Amino acid sequence: MKRAIRDSIPSSFDYIIVGAGATGCVLANRLSQNPNCRVLLIEAGSRDRASEIHQPGGLFSLWGSELDWQHSTEPQAGLGGRSILLSQGKVLGGSSSINAMIYTRGHRRDFDHWKRLGNEGWGYDEVLPYFLRSENFLGQPSQYHGIGGELTVQTCPTPRKLPRPLPNPAAPLAMAPIGISMVPNKSAAQVCIRLQ
Ligand SMILES: Cc1cc2nc3c(=O)[nH]c(=O)nc-3n(C[C@H](O)[C@H](O)[C@H](O)COP(=O)(O)OP(=O)(O)OC[C@H]3O[C@@H](n4cnc5c(N)ncnc54)[C@H](O)[C@@H]3O)c2cc1C
Repeated sequence: MKRAIRDSIPSSFDYIIVGAGATGCVLANRLSQNPNCRVLLIEAGSRDRASEIHQPGGLFSLWGSELDWQHSTEPQAGLGGRSILLSQGKVLGGSSSINAMIYTRGHRRDFDHWKRLGNEGWGYDEVLPYFLRSENFLGQPSQYHGIGGELTVQTCPTPRKLPRPLPNPAAPLAMAPIGISMVPNKSAAQVCIRLQ
């Protein structure tokens, strides 16, 4: 670290956040909007300079790389004794820097179930305003998509360049027998996926 930068760092902080992943970055950003609040964000990994981080197709080369904690399971008897890589980002942005950039939202039934279990404020209608507020949808705002938030979401801009359409056209056939049907992406039953 350059000396000028090191000397400008305060010796005490109001908040110390360990891990500059998805959560840590949002938290640090929100807290540091108060100019009187001194926030230290500590990250074990490096800067997010790798080009693969910034393109959805780059994820496979990031898994198992030095930007990944490279955790793995114990050898699994059911998998012929193999261990499976459990990727977790070790880089600015954390796992959101090595993830698939797919925007999904939970199903209404799950949120409402959590509320019925006694978790006040977790019903779908109560969390939906926060989803909308966090989202910057590059399309028509609607009941299910907000604009002006921190997280930019868009439909795939170049679907024909994908190796195969998303979602896979075989998916409805595979899911129908177990009672899952494809629905429009603007509904509360979010089977759909979108690119972040
Ligand atoms: C391979 C993969 C694919 C995924 N695909 C998607 C997807 O397509 N869409 C989606 O919505 N979600 C996806 N996810 C999930 C999403 O990325 C995570 O839910 C989200 O990033 C979790 O945020 P987090 O802040 O809890 O943790 P992370 O984003 O993982 O951040 C944790 C940070 O803490 C740092 N850290 C850990 N220990 C220390 C320490 N001791 N000192 C300093 N720093 C430390 C880590 O290096 C990391 O940067 C995926 C996750 C993975 C792993």
